[in-house]
Amino acid sequence: MRRVRAFFGGIHPSENKQSTSSTPIQSLPAPATLVVPLLQHVGREAKPLVAKGDEVLKGQLLAEADGKISAPVHSPVSGKVTAIEPRTSASGRSVTSIVIENDGQDNWVEREAHPDPVQLDAKTIVERIQAAGIVGMGGAGFPTAVKLTPPQGVSIDYLIINGCECEPYLTADHRLMVEYAEEIVLGAKLLAKACGARKIIIGVEDNKPDAIASLKEQAGAVDVVALPTRYPQGGEKQLIQALTGREVPSKGLPFQAGCVVQNVGTAYAVTKALRDGEPLISRVVTVTGSVIAEPQNFFVPIGTPFQDLIEAAGGFSQTPGKVVAGGPMMGGAQFDLEAPVTKVTSGVLAFGVDESKTPNPMPCIKCARCVDVCPANLMPLKLEAYGMNEQWDNAEEYGALDCIECGCCTYICPSKRPLLHYIRFAKAEIIESQRRSS
Ligand code: SF4
Ligand code: SF4
Repeated sequence: MRRVRAFFGGIHPSENKQSTSSTPIQSLPAPATLVVPLLQHVGREAKPLVAKGDEVLKGQLLAEADGKISAPVHSPVSGKVTAIEPRTSASGRSVTSIVIENDGQDNWVEREAHPDPVQLDAKTIVERIQAAGIVGMGGAGFPTAVKLTPPQGVSIDYLIINGCECEPYLTADHRLMVEYAEEIVLGAKLLAKACGARKIIIGVEDNKPDAIASLKEQAGAVDVVALPTRYPQGGEKQLIQALTGREVPSKGLPFQAGCVVQNVGTAYAVTKALRDGEPLISRVVTVTGSVIAEPQNFFVPIGTPFQDLIEAAGGFSQTPGKVVAGGPMMGGAQFDLEAPVTKVTSGVLAFGVDESKTPNPMPCIKCARCVDVCPANLMPLKLEAYGMNEQWDNAEEYGALDCIECGCCTYICPSKRPLLHYIRFAKAEIIESQRRSS
């Protein structure tokens, strides 16, 4: 049995997963109009290959990757391109998007399926993953094919599949593991072959015993490991430490510890791409929160507006105070419900007015609770002060770029200080200044 190590810090927020964790995923029909952003990933915006007025097929390539750190985008339906223009995205920024009027015919482009894709060689697997537009679906959106090709001379010992889903409220990965374990295990084998990993481990928090049982039934030589339920167990560095005992160096990447980490949703998407020939055009999204009438998980075509998802879940039971894309710890508040689901949308949460009030911050009492919970071993109170006073050099020296933006410090602070807010501010300024001087 694999030894599991505890990572430093972390918290135990209320899970609030019970309203969606036991009900099967429903398929949401595609809406009449879809908005497909060209930037749904880390890196450069994809370059459009279609024009206004073009007829497109489901699964057709709409836009190609622009350079290595980018990802292509495909059509989630058959229909007609009615506009290519900036539209609101869940990030809050305007992103060039392809607007498609759905013809309701569901006419697919020709698909290249393979009955036994594990027979494909590593290079072909990586190429097909890239061509299918697959990116990290746990929220990061880093192009998967890039993660699978570490620098020359680096060997990968472990492929780790992240099934922790440690954010409260979210159960999209949980239901995927219960209902599609076979696809996840096959996806894991394909990912391992692609990056040359010798060992595959799927890590799942122990609050999902049905997902663990379902994966173990399919696992074969794949190691399925139950991990203690503790946020942020699903952080890449925390997961690597818990499952292998290895540490990723400061400002480093998982390959430096001989590991590649992929999310369960990504593993599922890899199977759909290589076995069934389907590019990444839909995903599972949890729609929940205290003011959602009928919380559920849906398979959703990418490009579906959040408003349509909320209506499919029975609408708002009360006036919402806040709608969040993603989980409550790391997700972003939304100001426009026309923002569409993208490859990285794991949840749409809605909370009441009372729950959504921003607390008045009080002075720091130097209790060090933020230091005790920081999984990155940082001093959040110092980083906040440097961010607030625009002391970017000091923020960098104190490791701002190692912050994984988990929000544990803000959650635990008895003075209700907006620590992460200022740390993100500092990180953005440091990264921008590095970009300018490179
Ligand atoms: S938890 Fe809040 S009050 Fe305590 S040291 Fe950190 S910032 Fe200050
Ligand atoms: S400083 Fe960053 S990594 Fe540390 S607890 Fe705060 S948000 Fe998480």
